[in-house]
Amino acid sequence: MVVELISVGTEILLGNIVNTNAAYLSEKCAGLGLACYYQDVVGDNEGRLYETIRTALSRADILLISGGLGPTQDDLTKEVAAKVMGKSLYLHEESKTAIRTFFEKRGLEITDNNWKQAMVPEDCIVVNNPNGTAPGIIMAENGKHVVLMPGPPNELIPMFETSIIPYLAKLQDSVIYSQTVKICGVGESKAETMVKDLIDGQTNPTIATYAKTGEVHLRVTAGAENEKAAKKLVKPMVKELKGRFGSHVYTTDDEVTLEKAVVDLLLANKLSLVTAESCTGGMLAARLVNVSGVSDVFKGGFVTYSNKAKRRLLGVKKSLLAKHGAVSEETAREMAKGAALVSKADVTVGITGIAGPDGGTAQKPVGLVYIACDVRGNISVREYHFSGGRAKIRENTVSAALTMLRECILQYYSEVTFGGKEK
Ligand code: ATP
Ligand code: MG
Repeated sequence: MVVELISVGTEILLGNIVNTNAAYLSEKCAGLGLACYYQDVVGDNEGRLYETIRTALSRADILLISGGLGPTQDDLTKEVAAKVMGKSLYLHEESKTAIRTFFEKRGLEITDNNWKQAMVPEDCIVVNNPNGTAPGIIMAENGKHVVLMPGPPNELIPMFETSIIPYLAKLQDSVIYSQTVKICGVGESKAETMVKDLIDGQTNPTIATYAKTGEVHLRVTAGAENEKAAKKLVKPMVKELKGRFGSHVYTTDDEVTLEKAVVDLLLANKLSLVTAESCTGGMLAARLVNVSGVSDVFKGGFVTYSNKAKRRLLGVKKSLLAKHGAVSEETAREMAKGAALVSKADVTVGITGIAGPDGGTAQKPVGLVYIACDVRGNISVREYHFSGGRAKIRENTVSAALTMLRECILQYYSEVTFGGKEK
């Protein structure tokens, strides 16, 4: 089935907000096996919205429309969509009660325009919105399905996951199942080369490669008459990929991030961690703290941006800094060592680099980064050369540090080798 996304809002057209709803919905639709050929953005304008919905209906089976369900005059989506579908609106008593309860619970005053949100098109499905006042709406007629969802992502996402996905899944005569093999420590082009033969010959399942910062994700997708059959098609391909990428595969679970994989590894081996960051300024610590339950392993982090801080907090020697410079293999090593000495943590990481745009030289260009990892006294240092702007270099550094942490811990406990450029 073909789906088309319509994002409603002048704010999106003006660039005041980023259309994250479209990104979210397209990814979900791809996962559901729905083909999406067009995405539209239209402002809060009755005529243009009418035309957009009409045109989209002529080329898609399902319209997913977000935004413009609010109580104000410029929120027109429901009225216009109903008009295109030839439906009139009526007051939906249950929605009226839900709106009243929503306001009363929060001690807010209801204004008259709020009741506009309880008006729904005849013969539609009203979708519950536990996080806001605008209910979602589904209108279905002549094989066409028009879904209206509120614009705020904290309302749209739970509504989509809880109510809309099950509705869309029922429309499909085949089931799509996909699993992602997540890889770190292998570059994008190398990863693609390693699976080129599989991609060239693919039909069902298919493999799609996605380059992420410092990671590559390989999504294996299969379609079949039921989930069991689709899973059966995906399984051997995932096994093949795991065989090809070996220890570089950090998970095949969609919910597991690189930082979570690292935290799980620390937990499994009962290792405590302390970070010592210069150019990343605490970004590594922040990534780790994304993971709930990290407090069992992460003791804390040093942000030692100046030489003085590196000396005072981590005990990096003044003479070493003068001889090798703050961005050097030696400084990274001493940062990790110093952090271990001060904190008594089992694992420490030292990061130093030149994030730019200033500060680079011919010998030490912008993007040069050293990361040291100390696992119970076993220290490795690696040199990296990242490109891009300041933000990109810092993001890449954090991903590289997570990858290196994972590899060093695995290497400490086994004979696994990764072929990284050790210094
Ligand atoms: P409200 O009741 O808040 O008015 P609504 O359903 O009418 O909700 P809009 O008025 O279109 O939705 O947008 C409300 C807010 O939701 C926007 O200010 C923005 O923060 C967020 N939003 C809307 N559309 C999108 C989108 N496509 N991507 C990301 N955020 C969005
Ligand atoms: Mg609105």
